[in-house]
Amino acid sequence: MIDMQMSPPISRTIWSRSVRQFAQTEPAPTRGTADVVVVGGGFTGLTAALHLARRGVRVTLLEGGDIAGAASGLNAGFVVPNFAKADPAAVVARLGKPRGERLLRMIGAGAARVFRTISEEGIDCDAEQTGWMHIAHDASMLPVLSARVDAWRALGRPLEMLDRSAARARSAARHCEGALFDPEGGMLNPLTYALGLANAARRAGAMLHQNAMVQTIERQGDGWRVEGQGFSVAAKQVLLCTNAGRLGAAGRLGQAVVPLKVYQIATKPLPAEVARRISPQRTPVADTRSNLFTYRLDRDNRLISGGMAVLPVGAEGRMGRMIATRLARELALPAVPEVDAVWQGTAAMTTDFLPHVYEFGPGFWGGIGCNGRGIALTAMVGEVLADIATGKSLEDVPVPLAKAHRVMFAPIAAVAASVAVAQAKLRDRRQGL
Ligand SMILES: Cc1cc2nc3c(=O)[nH]c(=O)nc-3n(C[C@H](O)[C@H](O)[C@H](O)COP(=O)(O)OP(=O)(O)OC[C@H]3O[C@@H](n4cnc5c(N)ncnc54)[C@H](O)[C@@H]3O)c2cc1C
Repeated sequence: MIDMQMSPPISRTIWSRSVRQFAQTEPAPTRGTADVVVVGGGFTGLTAALHLARRGVRVTLLEGGDIAGAASGLNAGFVVPNFAKADPAAVVARLGKPRGERLLRMIGAGAARVFRTISEEGIDCDAEQTGWMHIAHDASMLPVLSARVDAWRALGRPLEMLDRSAARARSAARHCEGALFDPEGGMLNPLTYALGLANAARRAGAMLHQNAMVQTIERQGDGWRVEGQGFSVAAKQVLLCTNAGRLGAAGRLGQAVVPLKVYQIATKPLPAEVARRISPQRTPVADTRSNLFTYRLDRDNRLISGGMAVLPVGAEGRMGRMIATRLARELALPAVPEVDAVWQGTAAMTTDFLPHVYEFGPGFWGGIGCNGRGIALTAMVGEVLADIATGKSLEDVPVPLAKAHRVMFAPIAAVAASVAVAQAKLRDRRQGL
């Protein structure tokens, strides 16, 4: 067993300070065999490995850096069982009613699944299922949110629309005209959740290996040979769970998404009375502005919030101050809170904002597309990948199958996102928001 040394990106997060138990891993085998190799040790790969191991499949997970060292350990811990950018109606319009509704039911079940796994596996990750609130920052967004509530309720989910005073009883957000409330959402420490998944997968029989960057995945007989520096594993099937990564064998998945740099901050702990005022029921919050405003408390009443930079180069210090100043303004804090930690990670966006499963060859699959709502969604996509690897017909899989085409002009798309942030900030300023 080797204990994990956290790399600088994760050690900069507030989450790393709560780590009490590292992921237990082994050195990658010089030559090994497995039924399934999972490449990537974030939520998607860990969930897939856990489900496979629970089913008695011989599974080997190869992680190029640290377990949860990328988006999974760097995120903000909002557990949200829906899409960031796709309305239920738009999903049905795009995929047709049966497939669209099947995908929506899967996405909608994601948060409950996360909290269930945490409880089943005894994962200590400061999980709080206090719901999730999507605030209408102005009255024009109320019908949009109401339609979303109706669509989810029609699918049997327990969402409700809160009027202005009910929403304001849950949040001190300055611009709040009402809110969508999803009682199944919540929050957690994403790093300790991921490490808990890793240890659960290992307990179930999965072999986990860190610092095992996979360079090539090549057809060998009726299976695959998965290789990196100093190791080689032969497997019947391979699941590529490398998200926005583009190094080595990850390129075939990474090329299919637009990578976006997202900044997060944690403030110093707030006094208890301030925390109670701004989040009386500890409900994590996002609003409807394009220049999204989000906040949640952590277990020590630190405020966690984030944003995107117009110029994402050397922006950590600048973004830390900007996000803290925005928190003070939006939540009427007595002063700009002191920043305790600033970090950034890369989120992967698909061009249709939906998750996808990709087939790279017989028995070689990939899954991606959490579009900033990855905690709840990966709990489902990881299981879908495990289902496929254990023989489930693609016809019965709720995630759309896609071809992993290179996103043309991905760097331009990333720049376009920066321009969109700049425009959204300008629009907010003009409207006095
Ligand atoms: C800053 C930030 C904040 C976010 N906040 C939230 C939030 O509050 N709520 C939410 O639901 N979602 C959030 N997200 C999104 C969420 O974190 C992601 O959707 C989710 O973590 C994706 O999980 P994953 O396992 O697919 O990818 P990752 O966590 O990125 O894991 C992929 C892994 O593959 C490994 N890898 C890459 N290439 C190779 C290779 N060649 N060989 C071996 N291993 C390789 C990487 O090292 C990495 O560990 C946020 C994302 C970011 C960046």
